Amino acid sequence: MKKTSHKYLQVDADIEKVISDLDIDLLGQENVQLVDMLNVNRKDLLPSWLFVEAVEQAPIAISITDKKANILYANKAFNEVTGYDISEVIGKNESILSYCSTPPYIYGELWRKVSGSKGEEWNGRLINKHKNGEPYLADLSVSPMRDTKMKTTHYLGMHRDVSELYQVEKKFQNQKLLIESVLNSSSVAMVVIDQKNGVILDNQ
Ligand code: FAD
Repeated sequence: MKKTSHKYLQVDADIEKVISDLDIDLLGQENVQLVDMLNVNRKDLLPSWLFVEAVEQAPIAISITDKKANILYANKAFNEVTGYDISEVIGKNESILSYCSTPPYIYGELWRKVSGSKGEEWNGRLINKHKNGEPYLADLSVSPMRDTKMKTTHYLGMHRDVSELYQVEKKFQNQKLLIESVLNSSSVAMVVIDQKNGVILDNQ
């Protein structure tokens, strides 16, 4: 089959190969039409249940809410991270996860970003409350989901428990501060360098 034929696009499953094989003139002339065709083909390559399973089995807590943050869907990892059964959280507001210790301005910033006219993503760390009442540090991303007219219809939340990572980071920072204060209290000039002679630590 000639590689300038549209049929070639429809039967070949390897999109990257199709693009590189395409006749350059064809791409130039009918660019928009081709992109549309490739997008249709891309979706057709995989069955839709696979997309559902990808979200369901993703190793990060995923929830989809309405515009008031009422939970409409939550995946398996959401249950693992929060301790709530999925049936318990459906219809509840995401605020059930709040440990009520995050400064309110942070929530204000979150909502300003995601519900603003630009419909931006918000990323940050919040103190969340596990079902058992224990706090955990959530690394959260909230983004608006839009329809074809770019109107926000839902919100997508993704978070993971980073409490342990935070502890490790804090421990490392404290150790660094301790070493720095020991170095600074010495009257001898000292410097710690890495293998490429980069300065890691020095004293004042
Ligand atoms: P709120 O009553 O929510 O008020 C806090 C601020 O947000 C106020 O300034 C208020 O005006 C503003 N606000 C609240 N709702 C809206 C709205 N619909 N549109 C515009 N502005 C609004 N919070 C967590 O603590 N942990 C989470 O894991 C978490 N995940 C979220 C996931 C998603 C997808 C979304 C959309 C929100 C999530 N939130 C999460 C935020 C949550 O909805 C609450 O805003 C937050 O918990 C504070 O609750 P609150 O009752 O103390 O205050």
